[in-house]
Amino acid sequence: MYPFGHLPRSALNPSVQFLTGNMKVSDNGTDCGSAVSESVTTGTIQFGPLNKIVGAVRGKIEIDGTPEQVKILLKTIDNCFTAQEQKALVDRGPLAIRVEELRASCAAVYMGRKDGVTYRIKVNPRQISENNEFFLHELIHHSRMVDGDRESILLRTRSEDTDILLILPEDRSLEEAATMLETLARMTPYSEPLNSSYYFFVARKKGRMVYDLIREDRELIAGSADEGSEGLKGKDARDAVEKNFEKSNISDLLLPPENSKPAKERLDELKKEQG
Ligand SMILES: [Zn+2]
Repeated sequence: MYPFGHLPRSALNPSVQFLTGNMKVSDNGTDCGSAVSESVTTGTIQFGPLNKIVGAVRGKIEIDGTPEQVKILLKTIDNCFTAQEQKALVDRGPLAIRVEELRASCAAVYMGRKDGVTYRIKVNPRQISENNEFFLHELIHHSRMVDGDRESILLRTRSEDTDILLILPEDRSLEEAATMLETLARMTPYSEPLNSSYYFFVARKKGRMVYDLIREDRELIAGSADEGSEGLKGKDARDAVEKNFEKSNISDLLLPPENSKPAKERLDELKKEQG
């Protein structure tokens, strides 16, 4: 889930929703959870014709949108994932990406595969941008679900379900923080995110400016937060998250419920459990 509100860069008033179907938690009553839990067509995909094909995944990714939207979304996949990673995105089933009107506060949503066949991502047409942070974020949730090269606690989702992203409340901060940092790592070409999203919570907790935290994390994870700079992909991106997560600002993310732990403390706990 990528929460979105039209947030000014100061005096932020978040419109925040959280992922996964059975935990519709929201601090303001709006909730992308309904998008996650809505019924989807099963059986034959009713998506439009395949517009263009990413080399490594020929025939397994469908994008339904205008030619311009499709071009931007495909560019994001190509810019931000290696050929091997692209292949992994569809190893366990086809991926259908659909540009469609979502509620205003919802930029994009990862649907998983409720029909047991096709994974789906929906993107709000109003939130498609050149840096595509929203779409990229959902792709990373998907990659965390399906890519077998992701072995560590930090890099794999802890979803209890293999078809949809179903996260225990105590794991939500970790899932979103790890996804967020990896989004910053991969953004290519980099431009400042349009939305503060989960950084809002960290900024509030630390009493700092959201965009300072984002810039610091981008520099930490990708070496540069300059406009137009290139991010990382492949093993480089995954290793960078692994190496830097605990130093990142976003690792302090703490989402409700109140009795849960910040992302990095939860990670520590899980590492100890694993031994
Ligand atoms: Zn998310």
